[in-house]
Amino acid sequence: MTKTLVAGLEKYLSKGLADHYRPLKDTLPNGLKDGSHVTVIGGGIAGSAFARQLASLAQEHDKSIKISMVNSTNCNYCGGLITNVALDTLSQMYKLEVPDNLVLKQVDECIYINQEGSVTVHLPHPLTATLRTSRFGLPGFDDSIKERITDGLSAETAANIEIIEPTLAKKVEKNNDGKHKWRVILSKRNSDNTNMVIDTDVVVIACGFRALKRPMLENFQHLTGYKPPQTIPASVTEVDTSGAIYNKIDNRMFILDGIIKDCVVAFVPKGPKWLTLTVLNRKLEKQDITELFQHPEVKKYIDLPDAANSLRCHTLCSAQVYTGASVNFYGDDWLIIGDLTGYGRILKDGYFAAFLGARLAAETLIYYGSDKRSLKKGYHKRLKHFPKDNLFGRHLFNINKRLQNQKWFSRYFIAAARSETDTEDGSWVHGALRALSTGELTYRAIAVFFTLGLIRYPFRLLAGKIGRGK
Ligand SMILES: Cc1cc2nc3c(=O)[nH]c(=O)nc-3n(C[C@H](O)[C@H](O)[C@H](O)COP(=O)(O)OP(=O)(O)OC[C@H]3O[C@@H](n4cnc5c(N)ncnc54)[C@H](O)[C@@H]3O)c2cc1C
Repeated sequence: MTKTLVAGLEKYLSKGLADHYRPLKDTLPNGLKDGSHVTVIGGGIAGSAFARQLASLAQEHDKSIKISMVNSTNCNYCGGLITNVALDTLSQMYKLEVPDNLVLKQVDECIYINQEGSVTVHLPHPLTATLRTSRFGLPGFDDSIKERITDGLSAETAANIEIIEPTLAKKVEKNNDGKHKWRVILSKRNSDNTNMVIDTDVVVIACGFRALKRPMLENFQHLTGYKPPQTIPASVTEVDTSGAIYNKIDNRMFILDGIIKDCVVAFVPKGPKWLTLTVLNRKLEKQDITELFQHPEVKKYIDLPDAANSLRCHTLCSAQVYTGASVNFYGDDWLIIGDLTGYGRILKDGYFAAFLGARLAAETLIYYGSDKRSLKKGYHKRLKHFPKDNLFGRHLFNINKRLQNQKWFSRYFIAAARSETDTEDGSWVHGALRALSTGELTYRAIAVFFTLGLIRYPFRLLAGKIGRGK
């Protein structure tokens, strides 16, 4: 009975895109004028998606908008787990699918591990695992979006898009030429040894967190009053598992909660020879990798004796993830998109947020305009549901971090989760763990699911209703 209720609730509450996207009420394209020039700094997921969307809406409404996208082709970190919410957004809003040759695994099971044991959580709708960049000799997801910005657009529209890479935007300044609002100075030098410059009407910053504390962004903050979101440290690496004595990971991802103190680690499989390892709340050290791979619950699935020396790039990349929203992220003729806004679901599903935000920003420019008032109405207002739910996400993360340090709680948590394994999909605790992987429920719903599952466990124990689970 409860299981049917939980399954029904999961289905009802996971309305995905429809929950997040509110179409604009009046849809006359009264925004950017014909001949406007928009410059996007950063060609990751958000910048590429935005460029495609702006060009496509301009074409739909017969506007000629020039788009320049400047990108420094740094590695965009590893990761590459695409949720179904992100896939649907990509397909419905951008008319793009993930080509088969990019898909390295369809993940249909999550093994949750804490200090006191493990539990298997079934994912009824598999998640798609890809590489992000093409630097490892296989095509990457982020790169594939950039390569398909003009797919399906007319030759005339495509000719209005200029991608300048690999180039770093060094500075954005106010323009004094009387015609344009901004001047973007690029690191590339012309043959006469002067810096390349772009004179432009609108500037869109899509640089991601690698730009934090760099002169370009710091100067832009000073110029506009933009304040980046708060972040916590993260870390990521790709592990080469070809040296494993055995590898039974198959289509499973792993969440390792509190195995490294105060951190949540994820293992995402990428085919028989790859495993991505991401960590929230800390910069990974080599001894952490050894500790993780020697954990008895991990060893049930893989035995990789020299894991710390089996890293694809021989490096552990440190990164950052946001835990709150930025302040002043738009103004007259400028806006921030992607991670640097902090408007998405914290700690999960960054692709989805980048796709959604890019769409809202492009729509606002085409239908309303690039002034601060228009951006407030068409862009900011439609992102406002994120921070409220993220409050729950932040508390959940912090409370769990404290509790997982308590032996009794870790044991209790595993016992409650295991008690639900008399059916494949489990019940409240399984639903919550599943949603952390799939991104299909709000943090509010996840908090309620965890609470109900954990409160209910002793009553079921007393009533003798509990199966033996694993
Ligand atoms: C370790 C880690 C793992 C993750 N894994 C996942 C995952 O599996 N699934 C998921 O959905 N989300 C994941 N995310 C979140 C996701 O990566 C981000 O939400 C998403 O990449 C944000 O896109 P973006 O375009 O804002 O920034 P980015 O992807 O960082 O792109 C920014 C681009 O701007 C360029 N750039 C920077 N400065 C300049 C400059 N001055 N001039 C020109 N170009 C510049 C950079 O080179 C880069 O190409 C992960 C995040 C981290 C940190």
